[in-house]
Amino acid sequence: MKHFTLDIDKDGIALITFNSPDVSMNVLSSAVLDEIGQWAQTIANDDAIKGAVITSGKDNAFCAGADLSGLGSIFSEAEKLSHDERNALLYKEFTVIHTNFRKLETCGKPIAAAINGLALGGGLEITLACHYRIAACDNAKLKLGLPEAMVGVLPGGGGTQRLPRLIGAMNAFDLMMQGKMISADKALALGVIHETAPTSELIEKAKAWVKANPDAKQPWDQEKFKIPGGGPYHPAGAQTFMGVAPMIRKNTYGNYPAQRYILSCVYEGLQVGIDAGLRIECRYFTCLMQRPESRNMIRSIFLSKQALDKAGARPEGQSKGAIKKIAVIGAGFMGAGVAYVSAMAGVDVALVDVDQDAAIKGKAFAQKELTKRVGYKKMDQAKADAILARITPTTDYAALADVDLVVEAVFENRELKAKITKMAEEHMQKTAVFGSNTSTLPITGLAEASARPENFIGIHFFSPVHKMMLVELIVGKQTSDYAISRALDFVTKIRKTPIVVSDTRGFYANRCVMRYIEQGMALLSEGVLPALIENAARMAGMPVGPLSLQDEVAIDLGYKILKQTEDDLGPEAIAGPTAPIIRAMIEKYDRKGRKNAKGFYDYSDDGKKRLWPELGQFAVDGVLAEDEQPTPAYIKERILYAQAIEAARCMAEGIVQDPREADVGSILGWGFAPYTGGALSYIDTIGADTFVKRADELAASSGAAYVVPDLLREMAKNGETFYGRFGKEKKAA
Ligand code: NAD
Repeated sequence: MKHFTLDIDKDGIALITFNSPDVSMNVLSSAVLDEIGQWAQTIANDDAIKGAVITSGKDNAFCAGADLSGLGSIFSEAEKLSHDERNALLYKEFTVIHTNFRKLETCGKPIAAAINGLALGGGLEITLACHYRIAACDNAKLKLGLPEAMVGVLPGGGGTQRLPRLIGAMNAFDLMMQGKMISADKALALGVIHETAPTSELIEKAKAWVKANPDAKQPWDQEKFKIPGGGPYHPAGAQTFMGVAPMIRKNTYGNYPAQRYILSCVYEGLQVGIDAGLRIECRYFTCLMQRPESRNMIRSIFLSKQALDKAGARPEGQSKGAIKKIAVIGAGFMGAGVAYVSAMAGVDVALVDVDQDAAIKGKAFAQKELTKRVGYKKMDQAKADAILARITPTTDYAALADVDLVVEAVFENRELKAKITKMAEEHMQKTAVFGSNTSTLPITGLAEASARPENFIGIHFFSPVHKMMLVELIVGKQTSDYAISRALDFVTKIRKTPIVVSDTRGFYANRCVMRYIEQGMALLSEGVLPALIENAARMAGMPVGPLSLQDEVAIDLGYKILKQTEDDLGPEAIAGPTAPIIRAMIEKYDRKGRKNAKGFYDYSDDGKKRLWPELGQFAVDGVLAEDEQPTPAYIKERILYAQAIEAARCMAEGIVQDPREADVGSILGWGFAPYTGGALSYIDTIGADTFVKRADELAASSGAAYVVPDLLREMAKNGETFYGRFGKEKKAA
C-alpha cells in the first residue's frame, strides 16, 4: 500500500497509519479508497488481527476530505456518455466509498479512530465508519466537520446517514447545512466522538478500547436501534423536518441545491436501513454532482481559490520569496487593518503616520481585535502579545530601511501619495516593492512619482481588511513581473486571495459592483417598489440589496465621483437614471447613507433600518401599480446580467485575463451570487449564445448596461465558453 501502513502489535491490534507520500495533508482519492478496501478486507480475513486503530501520520492533521481535484477525470469520461450511462458510471464511482466504509464497520472486529488533527468531510466520514472515535484535546487546529455544502456538495461518504443516526437529525443538520467545523470538546458534547485525550495518549487509549470491546458494532447495525431524537415519522423527529425545510428555503432562496439534497438524504434515508440509506445518499450525490451549481462552486470556491491562494497567478520565471517585514504608511482605517492582518501572519510591521498618536491609534485596532480573540478563547494572551509586539508605530521613515514591501494607505490624494512615494523610496532598499492601496487613482499615474516605477504596484484591499479575503494587485504600465511576484508573496503570506488586474478606473471589482448599485437605482427610477428590488436582489444570491449597499459605501462618495466625472469629461458624460437620484439625495435631502443615519434607508438608534418612505419620488413615471410590478425572476436577471456583462467587458479589455481570477474575484470581492461560481461561470452556464440574445433584449428595453462586448458576441457565434477560450494559460483577449 502507498497511502497506509499496517503494523500489528503483540495483542493483535493493527495500527493503520494514513500517511500519503509527498503531500502535507491526507485526502481521499480513489487510490486511497481502494487501499481502505484492501486493509478492511485484511482485518476481516486475518485471524491474527483482533481489531484496529486508524490514525494519521501527518502532524496535526488526520484527513482534509475528498480529493475534489481528482473528480475532473471522472467527469471528462462521463461527459462522453448518454444520460443513463453517465448516471450509471458516476453512481458506480461514487459508491466505492460506501462499499469500503461498510466493509470496515461490518468486518466483525472493533475499529477505533485516533483523530490526531483536523478531520473534515470524507476525513470525518471515515471515522464515522469506525466503532469508536477518540480525538486529541491538545491540538487547537483540530476541527471536525462536514463542510461539503459550502462548496455546493453533500457529504457523500455516508455522512448524511451516519451522523444523524449518531447525534440526531437536528444536530446533524446544524453541522451539515452550514458546514460548521467544531472543536474536539464540542464534538464530544454532541456525541460525534466518544472521548478526548492528549495526542501522546491517543493510540494507547484507542488500543485499550479495541482490546476491551471485541464485539463492537455500530449503533445502526444493532437490533432495536432507535434514531436519537426520532426519525421523520416520530412525533418529535417530525418537528425537526417541519422546521428545517422552510429554514433552508429562507437561507438559500432555492439557489443552493446541496442543502435541499442533504435534507432529502436524511429524510428518506432515516426511514430505511443503513444500506438502503447509503444508496439513497449516493443517488442524490450522483445527481447533485452533475448540477452546474456544484460543479461551478467546486471549481471557483475550492479549486481556483486554492490555486490563487498559492500564488497561481505568479508570472513565469519568478520564484517565491519570503516577506519578513513591511511598512504600512497611513495608520487610518485601511492601514490599521493591513498592519493587523500582517502581524497575525507573522510579519513585522512598521506602522507609519504623520504623528505618533495617529500611528499608535492604528496599532490600537490590532489590540482591540486581539483582545476579542482572547476573550472568545480563540487565542491565548501570550500569543496575542507576541502578535501585537510585531507592530511598531512610528513617524520615522528610517524604519523602512529593512522592509521587503511598503503598503501606502494615506488619504486618497494624488499629490500626497506622490510625496509619500518619494519619501519612502529614499529609505527603502532597491529590491523592496512599493504598493499603493489607492481605490481609484490609476497606478501608472501614481508611479510617475517613483524613481523605480518597475517596483511600483497597486495593492488594493477591500474593507474591512480583516474580513475581506480578496486583494487586487494592480499592474501599472511599468510594473515588473518581479514586483507582481513580491506582492503575491505578501498577499499569500497574509492568507488572502490575490488576483492580478490591469490598471483601469475602478480596477475590476469596484467597476463591476457599480453596475449592481446602478441597476438598483435604475429599477427605482422605472417605478419598481424598493422593497421588491432589495428582496429580489437577495433572492438572486447577492449578500445585500443594491440600495443598502449604496448606503454602506456612502451616497456622498457616489456624489463626489459624479462631480469628478463631470469635471473631467463634461456634463454630457453623466447619463442614465442614477445621477438625478444621487444628486437629489445629497443636494436636496443631505442623505449620505448609513454614515449620517439616512440614505435609501432610515437608520434608528436601536440598529434597525427601514426603507425611506419617500423613495417613490424617484420613479420617473410614477411607481408601477402592484399588478404591473416585475417578477423577482426579472429583477434577478437584470442585476446579475449587468454585473456579468461588466465582468465580460473586463475580460474583453484584458483588465482580468484569467477566468478563475474573474470568478473568484467576483465572489470574494463583491459577493456575486456564489452558487453561480462567479460572474463568468454565470455566463458560461447559461451559454454565450442564449446570454447574448437575452442581453440584447435587455439592452433594447433597459439601456447601455446590457450592451455586450464584441468578445461575447464572437464567443456566442463560435459556441465558446470563457473557460474554454481563456482557460488555464493566460491569453490576452
Ligand atoms: P483614513 O482617512 O482612515 O486614513 C488615512 C491615514 O493616512 C490617516 O491615519 C492619516 O493620518 C494618514 N496620513 C495622512 N497624511 C499622511 C502622511 N503624510 N504620512 C503618513 N500618514 C499620513 O483613510 P482610509 O479609508 O484608510 O483610506 C486610505 C487609502 O485606502 C485611500 O487611498 C483609500 O482610497 C484607500 N482605500 C480605502 C478603502 C475604504 O473602504 N476606506 C478601501 C480600499 C482602499
